[in-house]
Amino acid sequence: MRPIKLAVIGMGKIARDQHLPSLAADSNYELVAVASPHNRLEGVPNHPDIQTLLREQPQIEAVSICTPPQVRYDIARYALEQNRHVMLEKPPGATLNEVAALVDLAREKRLALFATWHSREASAVEPARQWLASRKIRSVLVTWKEDVRVWHPGQAWIWRAGGLGVFDPGINALSIITRILPQPLVLKHAELSFPANCETPIAAQLSLEGPQGLPVRAEFDFRQTGPQSWDIDIETDGGRLLLSKGGSVMHVDGNAVVSAPDSEYASLYARFAPLVRERRMDVDLAAFRLVADAFMCGRRVTVEPFIE
Ligand code: NAP
Repeated sequence: MRPIKLAVIGMGKIARDQHLPSLAADSNYELVAVASPHNRLEGVPNHPDIQTLLREQPQIEAVSICTPPQVRYDIARYALEQNRHVMLEKPPGATLNEVAALVDLAREKRLALFATWHSREASAVEPARQWLASRKIRSVLVTWKEDVRVWHPGQAWIWRAGGLGVFDPGINALSIITRILPQPLVLKHAELSFPANCETPIAAQLSLEGPQGLPVRAEFDFRQTGPQSWDIDIETDGGRLLLSKGGSVMHVDGNAVVSAPDSEYASLYARFAPLVRERRMDVDLAAFRLVADAFMCGRRVTVEPFIE
């Protein structure tokens, strides 16, 4: 089959670390050009914005948007209006209504729209979902703690309204639990810690509840130093399941069951190609809605300023 002519928008950390290598290894795609205000990529035409990109490269069929969330909507909307298929980095926008508007537009135009959740593609997520399906879940503890200075160096957007703060990684954990646990999960309580000089939280604690009162607790913290924690610990009537290393390792009662190398972005691009060819959508907002609820109902506390 003919490769899909694709452009990457936003030539930052995730585009370079994951999108470019995954695209290079996938014969479904031809990387035609990139658009980014300042950064450049050798070997393909570079444009400062999506308007110039689509004007100068009319052959582009699809765009993959890797910008910070605050600018994602305008770019995605323009791409759809110009009849291009769209793949969105997570989170799919800055607000729920932005994503709802994109869904309406993509449906009206019969274009592919893919709201990606890379952590759902981690190797142990699907095995965990299957293992849990036949067991009664008693409790869930999510511990997602990382050092923001190591993982998000210089990313000022993360501290500005709409940048999500600690929910930027936290939403990855929520994307996993909303895939593997019975639904619906609802927010019961939340406490969000805002540094005195930031518009987004540096830490958050959520109490969620699943069907039949299932208790789900989530602890997110950007102030972690030393070993990082990306763990989901689940007690069931048939043993204890531990998903660790962001969903790539699974233990049951202390025994390793799954441990596989990272192929999250290869899986995302493998999913996007049939969506483009069949003009379909894949937009699941369960994790994004929980974050919105935490911002809407969470108790706010002010903590010491964050100085990078
Ligand atoms: P980043 O390193 O700050 O890169 C973002 C890039 O977006 C910048 O290089 C910037 O380009 C570009 N940009 C900003 N406004 C733009 C616009 N209007 N049009 C085109 N490009 C624009 O951030 P990142 O870490 O790659 O994160 C981007 C997104 O990916 C976030 O939503 C994040 O949650 C998600 N993500 C990140 C990671 C990770 O490990 N970093 C992992 C998974 C998902 P210029 O530099 O050219 O101005």
